[in-house]
Amino acid sequence: MSCIFCDIVNKVEKAEILFEDESTISFLDIRPLNFGHSLVIPKNHYENFFDVGEKDLNAVISSTQFLANAIKKSLAPDGINIISNNGSSAGQTIYHFHFHIIPRFKNDHFTFRPQYKDYSNGLMQQFADKIRGGIKSFG
Ligand code: 5GP
Ligand code: ZN
Repeated sequence: MSCIFCDIVNKVEKAEILFEDESTISFLDIRPLNFGHSLVIPKNHYENFFDVGEKDLNAVISSTQFLANAIKKSLAPDGINIISNNGSSAGQTIYHFHFHIIPRFKNDHFTFRPQYKDYSNGLMQQFADKIRGGIKSFG
């Protein structure tokens, strides 16, 4: 199975690498939403957030915080979005788990304006019950 991010880990594919440790690597996104938009990935291949092993997940989260602080210091953004797309409906295009770190600036014209839904007639409790059921099924 070919994976462009595994190729970056293995230095087969070029990337503007920012930071690397034993189990994670981070590099600039080739198609940035803002300049400095970065990706942090585990060196091991996992398809997405659901599959990533706990040790690697903790390492990716630590590297993400480390790099977000470095971006804050070096690029002085007004804010930073940290997101992970999981599944094609959620916008995932590369099936090797990753976090996006997106520096944000006032008036950067990157808009995400969802149409919020309304919980009515006990629907909020129904959804909470469903999810609590899901949590119980792990126990
Ligand atoms: P996703 O859509 O899966 O959440 O994010 C994948 C990201 O990887 C996209 O933002 C895309 O621009 C970036 N990307 C895809 N191929 C490459 C590549 O070969 N090199 C780098 N640096 N980024 C890539
Ligand atoms: Zn991979």
